[in-house]
Amino acid sequence: MKNWKFKGMYLKKGWISPAYVSTDDNGKILSIDSHSSLAVDESVEGYAISPIPNAHSHAFQYVMAGLTENIPKGHQGDNFWSWRERMYAVADQVNPEQMEVIASMLYAEMLRLGYDQVVEFHYLNKDSNGQSYNNPNEMAERLISAAKRVGMKITMTPVYYRTAGFNQGPSEAQRRFQYESTDAYFSQIEDLISKYQDDSEVKIGYGQHSLRAADVEETKEIFAYSSQMPCHIHISEQTQEVEGSLKHLGARPVEWLANEVGMGKNTNLIHSTHITDNEMQSIIRAKANVVICPSTEGNLGDGYFPISDFIEAGGRWCIGSDSHIGINPFEDLRLLDYGQRMSKQKRNIMLNGRPGDSAAISYDTVFDNGHLAAGESKNDYFQVGDDLDALIINSHSPLMTRDANDGRLSTIVYALDNSAIYGRIKSGEWLVRGGLHINYDEIIKDFSQTVNDIN
Ligand SMILES: [Zn+2]
Repeated sequence: MKNWKFKGMYLKKGWISPAYVSTDDNGKILSIDSHSSLAVDESVEGYAISPIPNAHSHAFQYVMAGLTENIPKGHQGDNFWSWRERMYAVADQVNPEQMEVIASMLYAEMLRLGYDQVVEFHYLNKDSNGQSYNNPNEMAERLISAAKRVGMKITMTPVYYRTAGFNQGPSEAQRRFQYESTDAYFSQIEDLISKYQDDSEVKIGYGQHSLRAADVEETKEIFAYSSQMPCHIHISEQTQEVEGSLKHLGARPVEWLANEVGMGKNTNLIHSTHITDNEMQSIIRAKANVVICPSTEGNLGDGYFPISDFIEAGGRWCIGSDSHIGINPFEDLRLLDYGQRMSKQKRNIMLNGRPGDSAAISYDTVFDNGHLAAGESKNDYFQVGDDLDALIINSHSPLMTRDANDGRLSTIVYALDNSAIYGRIKSGEWLVRGGLHINYDEIIKDFSQTVNDIN
């Protein structure tokens, strides 16, 4: 048993300050209180907030972050589709060992910056010839190993991919992503479920890469597979995709999904950038969740998700770091908010004119819906019986020396940079301290080799 004291801890009911937390020998929380007569074993000069789930990740893309902010000689212009060509060139090179190394570094960085429980939307599952590995789940298991190596909880979400576009067959460029059939895909999902069913750090999700990645019958089969497991799909990220859907399916992507397939509480729509009011209403009626990836959507020039209208109408949403051009959750929340403030020329757009606190709204939402997108549900940020998993904000950081509880969360979300994050506690042990993961030296050694081998 261990007795902790923090300067404060953020719960759904607000801050308690100071916060006394007792944990058992496995790091599970026994009690949380604002006073205690027990002797304190460790007093932390920081505020404890819960890390938040990262509901959308393609780990391998981290290795190319920062390298496509240019137009190469011989090319003209740049957009999502030309970026995708460069991403495919990277995807072609990554082998299973490198996948594990890249994901280990990425997940360690996510832990350092405030994310937990990554939903790995996984489609790089074949070898460089487009053939299955001896173990068809080789790549998925490498990603899970990476998460375990650094202490990240993972929701492994392999997604179905077979066709290169609407009314097209498979393509050579996407050979590493493609399944031969939905049966082959479901069999891999079932193997993962049985292998990790007793592992509390691993959950399994499923889904489809996008509407253009399968034919109509396959899409219906995929969405009918489970109403319990989280089901994820990229949708309406680009106007070209919306036009393709109108041409080949006779409806916009979300409209088609709502009318022909159906959505539910376990449906997670990644991006949904280009939706009409009717499509928004259909998402809300179905209680489906939208996963917004602000840094990536900004980087790829996708467009603005209509966040204030969606919140006003009662929509469910959370965030993900997707291509990992940005992996700081606070930065992503700010970017999402500021994009809309700039386009609407208003402040605190998440509140739609009503009194309240923008950070409390967004943090609550991304915590609750992020966990559901990852296949679990939580009632509070910290609760008795859960592991003590906390992101620690340095109480000596200039703006954190304010004593008042009011405004502290919005200071963290809107006004601090990474240097104010002191560390990360996982199951009652320090996993990141003073900005460094406990296994940083080993992880960076492998990663720096791989990041130089690829490209
Ligand atoms: Zn994505």
